Amino acid sequence: MGQPRGSLPSGLLLTHSFELVRPRYTSALVPYNLRCMVKPHSPAQHAELLREEIRHHEHCYFVLDAPEITDAEFDRLMNELKAIEREHPELMTPDSPTQRVGGKPREGFVKVPHSTQMLSLDNAYSEGELRDWTRRVTELAGGQELEYECEYKLDGLSMALHYEPADEGARFARGITRGDGLVGEEVTANLRTIRSIPLTVGRQRLNEAGLEPPFEVRGEVLMPTKSFVAMNEQREEEGLSLFANPRNAAAGAVRVLEPKITAKRKLDFYSYFLLQDGRMARATQWEALEKLSVAGFKVNPNRIVTASFEELWNFVNATETARDTLPYEIDGVVVKVNSTALWQRLGFTGKAPRWAIAYKFAARAGVTQVENIFVSVGRTGKLTPAAALRPVFIGGTTVSRATLHNQDEIERLGLRIGDWVMVERGGDVIPKVTQVVNEGEHKRPSDARVFEMPKTCPECGGHIVRAEGEVNSFCVNVNCPAKLRESLLHFASRNVMNIEGMGEALVDQLLSRGLVHNIADLYSLTEKDLLQLERIGKKSAQNVLTEIETSKKLPLERVIFGLGIRMVGERTAEFLAEHFGSMQKLMEASEEELLEVNEVGPRIAASIREFFAEEKNRQLLRRLSDAGLTFTGEAKVRGTQLAGMTFVLTGTLPTYSREDAKKMIEDAGGKVSGSVSKKTSYVVAGEDAGSKLDKANSLGVKVISEAELLAMLAG
Ligand SMILES: [Zn+2]
Repeated sequence: MGQPRGSLPSGLLLTHSFELVRPRYTSALVPYNLRCMVKPHSPAQHAELLREEIRHHEHCYFVLDAPEITDAEFDRLMNELKAIEREHPELMTPDSPTQRVGGKPREGFVKVPHSTQMLSLDNAYSEGELRDWTRRVTELAGGQELEYECEYKLDGLSMALHYEPADEGARFARGITRGDGLVGEEVTANLRTIRSIPLTVGRQRLNEAGLEPPFEVRGEVLMPTKSFVAMNEQREEEGLSLFANPRNAAAGAVRVLEPKITAKRKLDFYSYFLLQDGRMARATQWEALEKLSVAGFKVNPNRIVTASFEELWNFVNATETARDTLPYEIDGVVVKVNSTALWQRLGFTGKAPRWAIAYKFAARAGVTQVENIFVSVGRTGKLTPAAALRPVFIGGTTVSRATLHNQDEIERLGLRIGDWVMVERGGDVIPKVTQVVNEGEHKRPSDARVFEMPKTCPECGGHIVRAEGEVNSFCVNVNCPAKLRESLLHFASRNVMNIEGMGEALVDQLLSRGLVHNIADLYSLTEKDLLQLERIGKKSAQNVLTEIETSKKLPLERVIFGLGIRMVGERTAEFLAEHFGSMQKLMEASEEELLEVNEVGPRIAASIREFFAEEKNRQLLRRLSDAGLTFTGEAKVRGTQLAGMTFVLTGTLPTYSREDAKKMIEDAGGKVSGSVSKKTSYVVAGEDAGSKLDKANSLGVKVISEAELLAMLAG
C-alpha cells in the first residue's frame, strides 16, 4: 500500500478528457459500424437495433466523452428511429431514446422519502483539519491503516436515482432530489432529459457489473460551465434575471415543471454512490465506482485510493490547480474511508458521517479598485456596463475587467468609480463584482464618482431607452452599427422578409465592403455591387436581386416584424397589422390606441412608441416606403363578443386544443393570459386542472367549462 491507484490530476493534462479509469465495458455487439449491414427482418427488429445503437452512442458521447460518430450521423439514427416509431406507434417503448423529453408540464412535485438519509458532509478547510480527521478515523477504526478514496467535490445538486427490474434488465424508475435529506421531491421526468443518465441498463452490463435490480444510484446533477455561460447570455438578451452560478441554474432546471425546459439546459450527471436496500452495495467505495462505470453510469475519472496522507494531500493540491481547466465547477475534494464495512462501525456525528469529509477550497476572490466604468453595445443593442479594474491576481489569473450587468446592479452594489471592490470568479465565468469594500486601507477615495448610464448610444448616438420595469437599456436605432448585422439577418430571415441567399456570408461581405449601412440599403443594391463580392457570379447576383424584389410584395405584418422593434414578435406584428391596417397609422398610434391591440401591454406599447420616436428610424421607414415595400394591409375586424375580457386556460379541454381555444378567444376580441391574477375575467378549466384552478378559487375568479366558453362565443 502507499502507491495510489489511478494517478494525480495535473494542470498539464486536460483533466476532463484524461481518464484514470478506463471503463471495461465491451459489448458483445461491438462492431456498431457493421450494424448497418445487418438487414433487419421487421420494423420491430429494426427499431430495436436502432435503439441499441443509439444507446451505445449516447453512452460514448455523454458518459465517456468519446463519441465514435459525428453529431450528424447520430441525428440520422435518431430520425430513422423516430420515423419508424411514427409509422408504428405500437413499437414505441417508454424507454426509447426518442422519449427522453415526454409528458405534459406538471403542476407540482410529489414528496418522496429516501431509502436512507442523504447525508451532508462535515467540512475541513486546512491541511491540519484534514490530518486531524484521518487521525480520528484511524483511532476509531482500532488503529489499523486505512485506505482513503478521494474524489472531486462537484458543485451541483445531489440526486437519488432508483432502478427497477424490467424485461431488458433494469429501468430508471424514479429520480428524487435531496430535499432535507430524508424526504425529497420526485423529478423523474426532468432527470430523464439528462443524456448521461441511462434510461435502461441492459442485462449484459448488469452481469458485468455483478448488479441486480432494484438498486439506487446517488450522484450529482450539474450544469457544465459552457452551458451556464450560454444560458446566462441568452437570459441577459431577453432581459431576464441572471443565475448567480451553475449550481443555482441547475437547481432551477431540475425543478421547472416542464421537462422540455430541463432538456434545453444541458445538464450532466455524475454518480458516486451505489446502494442496494439502502446500503452500500460493495466492499469498497472504489469498487462501487468501478461497477457503476461498468454498468454505464458516468463516474468522474479523477479519483485515487491511497493510504498515505502525503498522497492524499498532493491530490487535493493538484485538484485545486486543475480546477480552472475543468468544464464544470468543483468546490473541493471529498475524502471517504474506502472500506464500506468500516462505515457502519464509524457511524455518525449528528447528521454527518464520520467516515467522510469534504475539503473545501478557498473562495476565489480578491479585492481591487475600480478605475473606470465603460459601456459596450451588444448585437441586440443592449448596453452593458463593465468595470475596468486595477489588475489583481485571483485564483491563478490576472483579472482586469468585471461585468456589472446593468444600472440596477451598479445601484444595488452602491458602486462608485474609484471604489475598492470584492471580485469573484469561477471556472471560465466572467469575473464579477460582488460587493463594495469600504474599510481599513480600502476606504472610498474622496474623488469617487457616481456612474451614469449614457443618454445616447456610444456607437451611433441613437437614443437609449430603458423600459419601465426592465433592467436593461437599449439603443433604439435599428441601423446602429453595433447591431446592424443582427438587424439585417433578422430582416432577411425566412419568416420575416424571406430574402433567400442573404445569410451570414453575404451580410458580412456587404458590411465589410461598406455596401450596406442600414436595412433600406438592401433595396438599392445593384448587380454591379454584388459582383464585387467573393463567390458571387452573375447568376447568383441575379437571384439575390430577384429575392429582394419579391420581398417587397410581402404583407405589412412581415415588414413590421422585420423592423426588429423590441418585444414585437411575429404574432404581435400580425395583431398590429390587422388592427391598424397601415404603417402610417401604427406610427401615429397613441399609447391608448396601442393598448387596444391584442397582446399589447404597457411595456410593448412603450417599446413601439420609443421606436417610432427615433428620427433615425423614421428616416429608415421613409426610405423603405420609397423602395416600394408594403405599408398598407387590410385592417381585420375582430369579433367583439369577448372584448375587454381576459381568459386563462388550464387542464385538457374536452374538444379543442389550448392553441385552438386561444385563437377562438382572440378572434372574438378577448385576450388570453398564462397566469391567473385579479385581472383575469374567466379561467377555462378542463380535465386535470391544477394550481391555476386553485389560484382562481382563492382569488374568486370565475371558473367556466369549455361548453360555457363556446356559449359565450356564440354570443
Ligand atoms: Zn446605437
